[in-house]
Amino acid sequence: MNDADLEKLLIKPGKLNPIFDRNTTSYEVVLESTTKEITIAPVTRDVNSSWTIVGYGNRRQIPLADGESHNVIIEVTAEDGTEKQYTLNVFVLSASDASLSNIILSHGSLYPTFHHDTLEYSVNVPWNLESVKILPEAKDKKTQGANEFLEVSLNYGETGKVIELLSPNKMACKSYLIKFVKGRILRLVTPVEYKEMLHCPICLGEVHCAVSLKQNAPQHSMKMYCCRSCVNMVTRTRKINPFTEAPLSADFISEERDIDEKLSNISVFCCYSDSGCEMKMELSNLGSHMDVCQYRPVLTSQYERIVPQNVSENQQKVVITKL
Ligand SMILES: [Zn+2]
Ligand SMILES: [Zn+2]
Repeated sequence: MNDADLEKLLIKPGKLNPIFDRNTTSYEVVLESTTKEITIAPVTRDVNSSWTIVGYGNRRQIPLADGESHNVIIEVTAEDGTEKQYTLNVFVLSASDASLSNIILSHGSLYPTFHHDTLEYSVNVPWNLESVKILPEAKDKKTQGANEFLEVSLNYGETGKVIELLSPNKMACKSYLIKFVKGRILRLVTPVEYKEMLHCPICLGEVHCAVSLKQNAPQHSMKMYCCRSCVNMVTRTRKINPFTEAPLSADFISEERDIDEKLSNISVFCCYSDSGCEMKMELSNLGSHMDVCQYRPVLTSQYERIVPQNVSENQQKVVITKL
């Protein structure tokens, strides 16, 4: 008599979000671009109650347009006149929108948090990671460049990955930049050829996440590459170029990701060469090697001392007496 509930709410195309439940009266439906209409088929719980779609009566087909949202209200009337409304927020994606709806990463998290109009992010990753996987998600499956995993090999220092997207109608482009910042190796890195290595004039270690300072005066034209963290440290309180004493402009740091890429290919020795490791590798792979190097120092539970990992339990005592 007074039952104004729906038993089912069928739609085509698309899916209700959340899944239909007769007590839930509001739903969202996201449809691919170029969807021309949606068919809605409500089924009442009581055969004697009736339904109508506000503005459409008993018509089940509702015309849709690209990039538009529609509020579809289904009014159910029970036999005794009791009324209940179910609302569908139907949104048709725009064929000229190349935006992402999310970026999923195998490691780390985006900074700042994802927003479809924020086009640049940074992600901190550990020093021993070789590569990272990215899944750029677009709500519209027809967006080119999205919804497939991308694998990014990580440089020593910083790696920039640009995600290029083309809208479903191929009329609009959008690109997002993700900067992966790999942690520094906190050990002395020894290059096979010293002349290939770039050392930071501030910390004297190898340049990590290279930047240069924009020069105000053209006479200081020689570029100096430094670690970003070093530049941030020395300019924190004084906005003065540490090499020329010249005042610095507001955006005085130039990112030099090419330098990180160049340094990544330099051949270096394992940092545990003192313990006997003879391996040489590219700087970008040094961290992941050190993580598994059989000469890496490990803490032994028995003696609470640090010894190379490949030394057996019995040998440990001998090694320790020699230390
Ligand atoms: Zn430095
Ligand atoms: Zn090694």
